Amino acid sequence: MKTALLSIGDELLFGEVVDTNSARIAARLADEGIATARKLTVGDDEGEIAAALEELARGHDVVIATGGLGPTDDDVTARAVARATGRRLVLNEEAMGHLREFFVRLGREMHPANGRQCLLPAKAELIPNPTGTACGFHLLLDGCLLIFLPGVPTEMAVMLEETVVPLVLGRRGDSRRTRTWTLTVFGLSEAEIGARLADVDRSRPGLTVAYCVEFPMVQVKLRVTGEDEEALTALLEDGAALVRERLGGHVVAGDGETIDTTVARLFRETGMTLALAESCTGGLIAGRITAIPGSSAYFLLGAVTYANDAKARLLGVPQGLLAETGAVSAEVAKAMARGARQLAGSDLALAVTGIAGPEGGSPDKPVGTVFIALANRAGCSAKGYHFRGDRDRIRTITAVTAMDWLRRRLLSQ
Ligand code: ATP
Repeated sequence: MKTALLSIGDELLFGEVVDTNSARIAARLADEGIATARKLTVGDDEGEIAAALEELARGHDVVIATGGLGPTDDDVTARAVARATGRRLVLNEEAMGHLREFFVRLGREMHPANGRQCLLPAKAELIPNPTGTACGFHLLLDGCLLIFLPGVPTEMAVMLEETVVPLVLGRRGDSRRTRTWTLTVFGLSEAEIGARLADVDRSRPGLTVAYCVEFPMVQVKLRVTGEDEEALTALLEDGAALVRERLGGHVVAGDGETIDTTVARLFRETGMTLALAESCTGGLIAGRITAIPGSSAYFLLGAVTYANDAKARLLGVPQGLLAETGAVSAEVAKAMARGARQLAGSDLALAVTGIAGPEGGSPDKPVGTVFIALANRAGCSAKGYHFRGDRDRIRTITAVTAMDWLRRRLLSQ
């Protein structure tokens, strides 16, 4: 089945908005074993959109378009579809019903301009939009299934999942299913991971392994296609077990998890509590911890102690130690962790101190020098790192390394 994607919007052509919709749709289709043959972007121009649709419909079985279904003058997708398919625009009563209901639920008056969104090509089938005003629709043009979704990424995503994926799978008319399983790996390069897993798919027919770098982690994607759901699950489980065996503790998250949700789960399972003292990450670690719902059950305190004085006054780091070793040292990281633990009364306390750059480095402590320390009731350990990259990358890899420290410590509890 040949599938194409069409992204509509001047803002995409001007570079003001990054086209995440087509990436999301392509990835979701790939999960089902459907490759995207082509992607196209056009502006809010009726003639351009109509021409793109005619061209894509000629060479593809399915075209999924996003954008331009709103109530304003620059939303011209429905008119362009009418032009390309030779249909009239008619008031779609079902769309009108959805819109009225939507505004009743919001408790707001409907603006007359919204009514424009219900002028759709004749005989178009509606795709409900549970979270917004613009309904999607689909119709056939010369045997090609044309699907239209609103541009708002969150609305588009819900409609993709609820209506479009089943619609496209039905069109494929093939009982084969594709299942994927994603494992997140940290602390090994993509090349090293590839070398360790080189034979995994070769030794398991039907299984493919793909790699995707999401700095500073690498995602290993296992994919299987077939008809028997149980056999697919067994093959994936077998493949995932082999990946874990080859990569050991470097697998930081399983399918459907991230390193942050893994750490959250481990805190809940162990019942431990946490305090943080951050310097060069400026709250990034606390941000990751608190982004997970329910973190108040284990996260007691996070202090961003940027200045030496703050490290001394809030965390009790001795001024003499700061003068002797400098703020970026294993000793200060340990003192920060101990101080945070005492301040919060937590089971664990993690501290980071480092030089994110671009200034502030020296020959013995270049930019990228970072110390991480972890304290518990029994004691405190620290380690130094030399990370490379710009300020953003150094701060990110420091935060992820800290999350990995927590993950490993909680696993060993
Ligand atoms: P609405 O009813 O909100 O007007 P619409 O179908 O008209 O829906 P657009 O006006 O094209 O959608 O876009 C709505 C929002 O979604 C805009 O903020 C736009 O920048 C964003 N958007 C549109 N297309 C994409 C895309 N391909 N990727 C990411 N964001 C997009």
